[in-house]
Amino acid sequence: MTENDVVLLEEKSKPMAESLERVMRELKPTMSLTIMLLRLAGKDKKLRSKLLEFIDVMPSLGGNRKKIRNHFRMYMDEHRHRFPVPYKQMLNVMNIPVVSLWCAGVMEWVIKNKFAPHFIIKDKDELFELSSLYSADNCGVMADFLGEKVLTKKESEQFIRKYQEAMGWVDRGIVHVSVKPSSLYPFFEPEHYSLAKREAEVTLYGMFVSAFMQYNSRVTLDAEHYALRDLTEDVFCQVVSELKISGCDNFGIAVQAYLKDSMGSAERFVGVAKKRGAPLMVRLVKGAYWDTEVEIANQNGWSVPVFENKEETDRNFNRIALYLLENSDYIRFYPATHNPKSIAFVYTAMNELGLLNNNEFMNNFAYQVLYGLGESPRKALAQMHLPTLVYAPMGNLMEGMSYFARRILENTSNEGFLFTLVDE
Ligand SMILES: Cc1cc2nc3c(=O)[nH]c(=O)nc-3n(C[C@H](O)[C@H](O)[C@H](O)COP(=O)(O)OP(=O)(O)OC[C@H]3O[C@@H](n4cnc5c(N)ncnc54)[C@H](O)[C@@H]3O)c2cc1C
Repeated sequence: MTENDVVLLEEKSKPMAESLERVMRELKPTMSLTIMLLRLAGKDKKLRSKLLEFIDVMPSLGGNRKKIRNHFRMYMDEHRHRFPVPYKQMLNVMNIPVVSLWCAGVMEWVIKNKFAPHFIIKDKDELFELSSLYSADNCGVMADFLGEKVLTKKESEQFIRKYQEAMGWVDRGIVHVSVKPSSLYPFFEPEHYSLAKREAEVTLYGMFVSAFMQYNSRVTLDAEHYALRDLTEDVFCQVVSELKISGCDNFGIAVQAYLKDSMGSAERFVGVAKKRGAPLMVRLVKGAYWDTEVEIANQNGWSVPVFENKEETDRNFNRIALYLLENSDYIRFYPATHNPKSIAFVYTAMNELGLLNNNEFMNNFAYQVLYGLGESPRKALAQMHLPTLVYAPMGNLMEGMSYFARRILENTSNEGFLFTLVDE
């Protein structure tokens, strides 16, 4: 693969990207409170950060209306002029003491019942319903468990139990389970590298063995912050190298294309797969923590690990996608993106490499999208009879708040494609 190949394929994929974008615009969700929120947050940086701070803190207020009202005022009062009329009226009404508590209750209800369900699945019954609903579209569901960074061994064990339970849902059509590396051990961080690596390896090894031997479930490690990247990849590579089971392609990991050195990760996984003699799954994403990575690096005077230009991230996504597709004997490829240009690039590359007619390849391929946010690309891909996999985060609102805030941030702050869909 040369850089020229990538550029040529990008050129070739343009007509498809344009028609996909048109279809996605037609299929875009109808006006909803969530879209209003995304628009509002996308228009104003300061308002967005206050809104996110409020959303983040809300679960800790324990439903106490007085506290909700006071916090909301603290975060939002100076921004009231930026809100659309119905919200502005609500803010005005909140100045009347008796009514203000009622308004705080309504606000909590709206966030819990209108915003959050757009992004979050509440329990396994809803997940099973989703799975049977989507199966008609050749669309699978991947179970993901929401939660904050684990702080104790007990919390970590709770996560592991949830993963184990989810592996058993294969007969309900849920074959894929997503695992957060930081949930494997409470001190999963570079400062405790040796201990964290040892402990996480033991846990992951056990989990991978049962995924394969007991359930035939597929398990993929999420990619989290850059600080955890090397530790995560070292643990993964060590465990899959020990598990040299012939034909076992049940284990996977995510690669973040916004990292300047992420091609190195892709090459490493191809190398490990070749050596172990069985394919690995790779979910290719752009990366969800862009703002945070830039901020952390700047605050510490470090060099920024992510590209600072959106086109560079997009190009790198394509570069890695092509490399992984060229190594499809070793890699089960799962591109995770909502961007029609990136989707079209992958399709065009698969076509050029003759993979679209390769049943062995297509049986182990799917575009991945996020529950709720990725509904228009999911429907567009279903219309083209392409396999999709919906990443479905499950949990209560308390567990889901930082996920919820991250999705808003990612889609409103930095030239994200999805925002262009709602900002019309
Ligand atoms: C199924 C699924 C699973 C996912 N799993 C993970 C995961 O494990 N780990 C993870 O980190 N993320 C994950 N994500 C999120 C993903 O990384 C992206 O944040 C999200 O999908 C938006 O990217 P896009 O290609 O859909 O949209 P686009 O709009 O094309 O891209 C937006 C992305 O571009 C990048 N970007 C934005 N501005 C700039 C800039 N100025 N310079 C350089 N780059 C920029 C950021 O990565 C941003 O998220 C997942 C996404 C999906 C759909």
